[in-house]
Parts: sequence; C-alpha cells; structure tokens
Amino acid sequence: MSKETVLIVEDEKDIAALIAHHLEGAGFRTVTAGSVSMASRAVERHLPDLIILDLMLPDMDGMDFCRDLKRRSKTGHIPVIMVTARGEELDRVVGLELGADDYVVKPFSPRELTLRVKAVLRRLKGPKEEKKVLSHARIVLDTEAHWVTVEDEKVDLTLTEFKLLYELMANEGRVRSRETLLNNVWGYTFEGYERTVDTHIQRLRRKLGEQGKIIRTVRGIGYVIREGRP
Ligand code: CA
Repeated sequence: MSKETVLIVEDEKDIAALIAHHLEGAGFRTVTAGSVSMASRAVERHLPDLIILDLMLPDMDGMDFCRDLKRRSKTGHIPVIMVTARGEELDRVVGLELGADDYVVKPFSPRELTLRVKAVLRRLKGPKEEKKVLSHARIVLDTEAHWVTVEDEKVDLTLTEFKLLYELMANEGRVRSRETLLNNVWGYTFEGYERTVDTHIQRLRRKLGEQGKIIRTVRGIGYVIREGRP
C-alpha cells in the first residue's frame, strides 16, 4: 500500500520540519511548501491526501488559499487542517466555514497534530451516513442541506454543534458518553477535554431553545436524546 501524502504549508522552517518528522514517523509521506505559490505548484504536481495549512504565509493568506482549494473540483475533496496563531473563536469558526476540516492553534504538540491528521483521514474513509434527514420532537436535521430547524425555524449551528446534534439524534435513546462524543464528533479524545463537550452541549441547548431540553444529561456518563422520563 502506498503511503498517504501530507502537504505541509508552513513558512517557519523549524515548525515545518518538526511536523514532517512526526508525520513521517507515523508512516506518512510529506511534502513541504513555504508559501502559497509553492503549495499550488506542489498540488499541481501531485494531489496530496491531506493539507496542513498555516494561516500566516508570506505571499497570501492561508484562508484564501483554503477557499480556492475547496472551490476547485479537482482539489475540493482534500481535507485541510489549519494551523493558526490567532486563537480567537471567530477565526476558528470562519476557518471551518471555509471548509477546513480541523485546526490547531500554535503552539501545538506535533503528536496531537499527527493524531488529528489520522482522525480526519479516518473520518473521510468512514461509511457514508445512510439517513439524510433526522427528526425528533420538533427538531429536524438535514445532513445533505446541512441545516437544522426547530419548529420550522432555521437555527444557526456551528459545524461542531451540528455534528454533536447529529450524533445524539442518530443514536436516539442510547446514552453517548463524553468520550464517545469526542471520538465521533471531534475525531479524537484527550484527557481533560470532557468539559469541552459540556460547553458545546450547553450552547447547543440554548440555540435549540425550549426544544433543547430533549438533550438529557446522564450524570457521570454523558448525554442522550430520549422521550419521556428523565
Ligand atoms: Ca507562518
């Protein structure tokens, strides 16, 4: 089996080399580009299986490059993990809306980044979801149109909130532990990340309004969507 190729777009040579070292240790082939123009040429030569993209590059903003990649039919399917020094939530959300599949904030651990690369690639190879439209109570979730309505009103969810709701609705009646949610929604799990799940659930409930109460907390374990008794 041929190795999967990861294109690392990063102008800081030390960081690029560190990422490459860890990915190669994990069995990937790596190509490094120090600018968007170098990255474009690398993509023309050989389509990578995944791109790690720094946002601050000398010739062009990484976000614009990501947008271009996602727009083109030849490259739109290639997963992108963004690397950013700007940690603001807004940037993260915007990054994900541009089609990035995940992101890390500098400074990050190369081991964590390697795990995320594997998780993103695994997620893409996973079986396609069968059910396109899920509904529960007055909530309807459409996986193809990628929207959620509550009592026929559209609700704006972030990508993570959408995936979280999908995971709970697709497993109606079954309790999902925080760890399972981390694995299936975020694609990886880390010690201490459980609280991230709680924070996202709280936000999701708020956005769902009165219907948010269908997401029940199972103390000490996780969450479930279930009718009837608490
Ligand atoms: Ca940079």
